[in-house]
Amino acid sequence: MTGLVIVGHGTRSAAGVDQFAALVDRVRRRGDTGDVEGGFIELSRPPLTDAVGALVGRGHRALVALPLVLTGAGHGKGDIPAAMAREQRRHPGLSYRYGRPLGPHPLLHTALEERVDAALAGADRAGTFVALIGRGSTDPDANAEVAKVARLLWEGRGYAGVEPGFISLAEPSVPAVLERLRRLGARRIVVAPYFLFAGVLPDRIVAQSAEFAAAHPDLDVRVAEVIGDCDALADLVRERYAEALGGDIRMNCDTCAYRVLMPGFADKVGRPQRPHDHPDDPVGHHHHHGHDHDHHHQDQGSVAVVGGGPGPDDLITVRAKALLDAADVVVVDRLAPQGLLAGLRPDVLVVDAAKVPRGPSMAQEAINAALVSHAKAGRRVVRLKGGDPYVFGRGHEEVQACVAAGVPVTVVPGVSSAIAAPALAGVPVTHRGVAHDVTVVSGHLPPGHPDSLVDWAALARARGTVVLLMAVDTIAKIAAALIEHGRAPETPVLAVQDAGQPHQRSVPARLDEIGAVAARADIGPPAVFVLGPWSLLRPPGPLTDYSLRAVSGPVTRSSSGSVEAMTPRQAANPTTTIT
Ligand code: SAH
Repeated sequence: MTGLVIVGHGTRSAAGVDQFAALVDRVRRRGDTGDVEGGFIELSRPPLTDAVGALVGRGHRALVALPLVLTGAGHGKGDIPAAMAREQRRHPGLSYRYGRPLGPHPLLHTALEERVDAALAGADRAGTFVALIGRGSTDPDANAEVAKVARLLWEGRGYAGVEPGFISLAEPSVPAVLERLRRLGARRIVVAPYFLFAGVLPDRIVAQSAEFAAAHPDLDVRVAEVIGDCDALADLVRERYAEALGGDIRMNCDTCAYRVLMPGFADKVGRPQRPHDHPDDPVGHHHHHGHDHDHHHQDQGSVAVVGGGPGPDDLITVRAKALLDAADVVVVDRLAPQGLLAGLRPDVLVVDAAKVPRGPSMAQEAINAALVSHAKAGRRVVRLKGGDPYVFGRGHEEVQACVAAGVPVTVVPGVSSAIAAPALAGVPVTHRGVAHDVTVVSGHLPPGHPDSLVDWAALARARGTVVLLMAVDTIAKIAAALIEHGRAPETPVLAVQDAGQPHQRSVPARLDEIGAVAARADIGPPAVFVLGPWSLLRPPGPLTDYSLRAVSGPVTRSSSGSVEAMTPRQAANPTTTIT
């Protein structure tokens, strides 16, 4: 029989987790839905990946995945399918049929009626209004489902009235719906949470109801239990399982804001559903609170491969900084902006990528493995790199490793030293009428090296700008090769070391002298060499240092300290050094 994985969202409430587990057990004991496992997409144990892993381990290659949600909102439409897609990447060949949300369904309405009755404890229905409180969503269809259930709960059951309300994201709020019922003349109100299991939000319904009751002593306000683990729910799970197996899913997509233009929701139509934060939900904003890693995002970890810019704290992008602020783990390179590490929350784990075991390929494998394992443990990982991650940064190797492991991964481009280091030293890599091309070259392997992929002869023929990275040890050989292939020996070269740092310095030389000049000036990494027609240009005056550091203190500058290393022509035009 086809295996069934029951997928929950996860909760911080231990009682809620127990109720979920009890329901999974109940379904399993009945034995009419095949092999059953339950798992959560975040916050709680076991994670979905364990549940799917167990079923796959027992030989299942086709599953029914049933989202244990009451309405078709973000978790059912987006988050759970995304989590299942990750499982499919993890288990090639795995297929699954997706069940539809549980409600509305008569079994649920009857269960709700029983919870309301229990709260009434014999008091009469005709004198009772019910406030049915849903979770609330930015998806109007999901909110409409709660309104529909409220109406169906009213029909034929003899209550004075049933009004829908929401604990989060949608109106009316709990106090608002209670006030509405009070004005309708209600004397007794049962607040019925339209929730499967205990959790933070049902607790909040209780608290807000108690507050309203305290402010209105003339009202009899009672709160019913959540639906909880029960036979009716197990019956419904079985029904949804059979429905999915039969390929008989009748979703009502006619009022789905992602398919149909609805007034006020034009931003959704035609777009994929995207996970979003619930503003007043502790889950969505977990990273802004002090937190406990063991209870967060059990299988919702992710990796962001982030460019940190050339070094100063304030040459990182806004997006990169936001991801850094939200990170649980930061794996950092030596050339990344170290100053930003001081601003991380004290509980953030900082891994120094330079300290992983020796041997370059080994090191990269160890870094990849660290990214994947932290993400799989549910953490938000930022891989912070110098410059741009895709410019000689091995960023794509890390992205590929994450993709191969089924870990969600994103790339954030950065300000590359290839462009920024020359700029910070006053050299534009292009200029109208002067340089119409710029080539960024790795000098890691010298010309003639069997593994070199660079066409040095072609570079020598080009007329524009060449920026060499990782070339401190090879610059003399590179210069010789370029001259040999026809580049003019007097072509100006500027070595820029520690660009953006207070100790940034730059040393100019002719192409045929740069090797000796750089060695004498003791140019060391990190440095770029920019060669080309840039010497035709001079900054109109001293460059202004707009870095945050400069803003907070006086800006001092001096001309290059290595004028003695310049050729006469260049000495006439010393490069400005910002100190
Ligand atoms: N991804 C990085 C480059 C990594 S390769 C980027 O986009 O900037 C490392 C090389 O970058 C160094 O050898 C050096 O050539 C250059 N580099 C990085 N930071 C630098 C800095 N602040 N000043 C000068 N060169 C730098």
